[in-house]
Amino acid sequence: MIKDRYDVVIIGAGPAGSVAGRFAAEKGASVLIMERDREAGIPVRCAEGVSVNGIKPFIEFDKKWVAATIDAACLHSPDGEKAFMYNNGKGLVLERRIFDTELCHLAVNAGAELLMKANATGLEYTGGKISGVHFRHQGENKTIKCSLVIGADGVESRVGRWAGMKTALNLDDLDTCVQYTVSGYKGEQNVCHFYFGLDVSPGGYIWIFPKSKGVANIGIGISGHLAEVKGPKEYLDEFMDKEYPEVQTNYIVYGGVPTAWGLEKYIDDNIMLVGDAARQVNPMTGGGIVQAMIAARLAGQVAAAAVEKGDFSYSFLKQYKKDWDVKLGSIQKTMYSMKEKFMRMDDGRFNKLVQICQNIPREEFSLKRLFMESMKGDPKLMAELARAFVVSKINLKKN
Ligand SMILES: Cc1cc2nc3c(=O)[nH]c(=O)nc-3n(C[C@H](O)[C@H](O)[C@H](O)COP(=O)(O)OP(=O)(O)OC[C@H]3O[C@@H](n4cnc5c(N)ncnc54)[C@H](O)[C@@H]3O)c2cc1C
Repeated sequence: MIKDRYDVVIIGAGPAGSVAGRFAAEKGASVLIMERDREAGIPVRCAEGVSVNGIKPFIEFDKKWVAATIDAACLHSPDGEKAFMYNNGKGLVLERRIFDTELCHLAVNAGAELLMKANATGLEYTGGKISGVHFRHQGENKTIKCSLVIGADGVESRVGRWAGMKTALNLDDLDTCVQYTVSGYKGEQNVCHFYFGLDVSPGGYIWIFPKSKGVANIGIGISGHLAEVKGPKEYLDEFMDKEYPEVQTNYIVYGGVPTAWGLEKYIDDNIMLVGDAARQVNPMTGGGIVQAMIAARLAGQVAAAAVEKGDFSYSFLKQYKKDWDVKLGSIQKTMYSMKEKFMRMDDGRFNKLVQICQNIPREEFSLKRLFMESMKGDPKLMAELARAFVVSKINLKKN
């Protein structure tokens, strides 16, 4: 039985919602997380790749939500050359439906309540201030009162819009993605693959993330403004016919990934956005799981402090933005500049990049080195990048 009123109502039980709920509840706030689907993490709209170091601070390792462990990434250039990257920390391919549910359990263990199949439909206002959430549950329209709403409702977020925030994305800041989960994949299980090139995936890349034996996520993301003439599915189907005609598709995902620098405004009186809803995604890679969890922890902590102080004003809640900017927000801006550069790279540059990778000794390989090589000829961006790497190292160590 849910109560009539909570300190905090969170909309969405993805990684952002569950982690925010957990950190707010842990410090004594009464928290309700509402999720429109019947289960967290489904339908899966993700390639499910994360770094071990990224998720370590949030959840104890359990092989039940790990589909594969990744030791190397292989980059494929348009001219058919390839280079292996080994020295970049271990990666995991998750089982998101189990992983997301585990994050919900952690939130509940910390004291949060969960309401599934509850579809938020709008915000309640009292005296011009947000004072609750309207939602539909078991065929009925209902309203729940709260002091603070956290919008963790993913890339298609409506919560921010309801609160008057400008959350619309330009087409070139939204990757359109298609992914097939396939059976019959014969590649190595500990190696993921990335294919680049204007004919393969303009302004993006094709990925292969192996899962359990013979199963892999094979997908593509291309910048929205380049998808108008030829869509991602057409590119992916051509690739599959050429490279993997023998596999069978057993699950298809369509989805969008925000690749913006961030959002101008994602906090206001009585409301905060987090995760994809706040565009807290690495614009270079499109990875958002770890970013969502890092931001959600900060938002949850500020929410708990607001409850303790009884202050839900923008001027109190903006501490969350300050914390996010220190942790990752400013780095996201640098990554955005890199993405813009990456989108303009021609096939010759990609070929060169893979050649450079081939020549970096295995033990010296690092993402930093790769990025630096790719940005040669742009001293301003190089300097920005060097700074970002130093800052990110310092900030992530504080996790
Ligand atoms: C094809 C694809 C591949 C990707 N691959 C990767 C990858 O390999 N690695 C990586 O790190 N990231 C990847 N991402 C991005 C990643 O999936 C997201 O960044 C991440 O899920 C963000 O978490 P979130 O909690 O903010 O949002 P979500 O995980 O989208 O969760 C939002 C939740 O809110 C719920 N919701 C929405 N509206 C309402 C409502 N009105 N009422 C109640 N509930 C609502 C939804 O049902 C959902 O459960 C990929 C994305 C796509 C589309």
